[in-house]
Amino acid sequence: MDTRELDKIVSGIGSNPLSTITAMMLGANKRYKEKYTKEEREAMKQEREVARLEEIRCSQVRQGSCPSCKGKLTRGKKDKRNNYKRSWECRECEEFHLA
Ligand SMILES: [Zn+2]
Repeated sequence: MDTRELDKIVSGIGSNPLSTITAMMLGANKRYKEKYTKEEREAMKQEREVARLEEIRCSQVRQGSCPSCKGKLTRGKKDKRNNYKRSWECRECEEFHLA
């Protein structure tokens, strides 16, 4: 391969919008890694996971299904002390769930 051919390939990559986006994403990823330590990134990942599981739990409760035993929940009143979340009581395990 001669240099002219190589130049053509390089300039081709440079003008490819997809590779620009990839480069931008890589840049953002690099900055993200520079900005946060491994521990911080791990903690954020955990936080997102907790939020995701909480979302799943809440939607189960709102559908009247106990997240612990899959029993039926009795819909309770909204509770002022708990950010107006509704308390649900399980008929099977008698646990209370807020959602
Ligand atoms: Zn239950």
